[in-house]
Amino acid sequence: MPTESACPFCKIVAGEIPATVVFETASALAFLDIGPLASGHTLLIPKFHIERISDMSAEAAAELTGCLPRLARAIQSTSGADGLNVLLNSGRVAGQVVDHVHFHLIPRGPDDGLGYRWNTGAYSEGEAAALQKRIRKLLESE
Ligand code: 5GP
Ligand code: ZN
Repeated sequence: MPTESACPFCKIVAGEIPATVVFETASALAFLDIGPLASGHTLLIPKFHIERISDMSAEAAAELTGCLPRLARAIQSTSGADGLNVLLNSGRVAGQVVDHVHFHLIPRGPDDGLGYRWNTGAYSEGEAAALQKRIRKLLESE
């Protein structure tokens, strides 16, 4: 499998730097985040180097996300969490620091202080319909 020499997650896959691995398949690896937001904070990655979720094939993405339910159950159960956030940062502006696709699984509890900024907005008249048209047109042209 191709390895990006400077990528820390590829180095983990190659065994060049240590990681606390909790789950592994032929194509995916899950390990504890080195800077956990909560105990049990886990990262799920594909074993091959790819920077953005939008660059993945449907098959590779399905293989990776197929691991999520089982992993989520194990992490939630062992950390005693009431729930968890599954999130993926894609691109610098979205908070992605490591350019190798990874899902965060972050155990959550009441009053855990992590918070979640979700400032909802509203569409102006016709804006959602125009957006719908553009997205659908682009997807249909692929
Ligand atoms: P991002 O901001 O790219 O979505 O998240 C990158 C995550 O990777 C961070 O939460 C960070 O703590 C974690 N991380 C970065 N380098 C390493 C590493 O070498 N080992 C482990 N286990 N986690 C890492
Ligand atoms: Zn990589």
